[in-house]
Amino acid sequence: QYNDSEYTFRHRDLTTKLAEPDQLRAKPDVSELKFGQIFSDHMLKIFYHKQLGGWQKPVIIPFENISLHPAAKVLHYAVELFEGLKAYRGVDGKIRVFRPDLNMRRMNLSAQRAGLPTFDGEELTKCMNRLIQVDQEWVPHSEGSSLYIRPTLIGIDGTLGVAQSESALLFTILCPVGNYFSGGSESVSLLADPQYTRAWPGGVGDRKMGSNYGPTIRVQSTANSKGRQQVLWLYGPDHQVTEVGTMNIFIFYINNNGEKVLATPPLNGLILPGVTRASILQMTQDWKEFKVEERILTMDEVITLLRSDRLLEMFGSGTACIVSPIASIEYMGELLNIPTTEHDKPVYKRLREQLFAIQYGHVEHPWARVI
Ligand code: PMP
Repeated sequence: QYNDSEYTFRHRDLTTKLAEPDQLRAKPDVSELKFGQIFSDHMLKIFYHKQLGGWQKPVIIPFENISLHPAAKVLHYAVELFEGLKAYRGVDGKIRVFRPDLNMRRMNLSAQRAGLPTFDGEELTKCMNRLIQVDQEWVPHSEGSSLYIRPTLIGIDGTLGVAQSESALLFTILCPVGNYFSGGSESVSLLADPQYTRAWPGGVGDRKMGSNYGPTIRVQSTANSKGRQQVLWLYGPDHQVTEVGTMNIFIFYINNNGEKVLATPPLNGLILPGVTRASILQMTQDWKEFKVEERILTMDEVITLLRSDRLLEMFGSGTACIVSPIASIEYMGELLNIPTTEHDKPVYKRLREQLFAIQYGHVEHPWARVI
């Protein structure tokens, strides 16, 4: 039989070792959950060993620590990438995962850039679906909550050469997350400080690699210490608006011809190609109610629109919060107040409601895949 393990692992080879009853943990109250602190009872693990022909058989096992060689490349050169997607328990009790095909495509692009092995995304989706089924009681029952899925791929060769890793570990862990918008103000204030850059041309800002995220943590806490919730990442001498925290950014405004426009930065290598971003672009193009543009946006333009009362809304988009309205931006010593939440029937709210309806099965839609 043809051996394709260099190309991919297969769901049909998946085996499951269930946790013993005394290993199962109590499910938390999701209303009090902070993101990423509690994990489900099982995990998925798939090794890649070039010497052994490539991908090994996928296994689901009780959640456990990982043991690594101290020289493992991931620990020294951040040979690592990950994805983030969610499973939702619908009004009909069925569990749906939102557009996993896009996450799998992005994960393979990241793997390629990291010199790590690629795989058939549909096979990983099927293995992850099985993991979610095993831990299905970890998918919260309250609407607005969800189960976050974190597939991760790391280079594990125990050798210090800055070279392609010949062995790798792909694993997936799951954590329940509460309703992002329960309590508190839903809109965010931002710090835009041009001295920091998240990504640059020719870099890896458009790949979901851990090495993009570590250096943002200190900037994020600087923003927090100034009373701002997120960082607005700028790029270049003209202070291009690129992303907000770990979200893509949208701006809804009235152009010089009096037309309403929804604009977002282009996929020019500086931003992550977000699944929510792609979905919002497609939905709003289908609405045919205003212009939809992918183009470079600068802080000058934001300020000009704001000063002439033509800036209607700014919001971030991402798997974590779906759509997050922006209330203010601290920029060059000034606080810009953005009127995002001050309109009747704002676009950000409609988008959130439409995506919510798809994810929680209020409407049937091909983007939400029942597992
Ligand atoms: N930008 C960055 C830097 C991110 O980490 C994320 C989260 N994956 C996003 C944008 C939003 O992407 P998505 O809609 O796929 O969650």
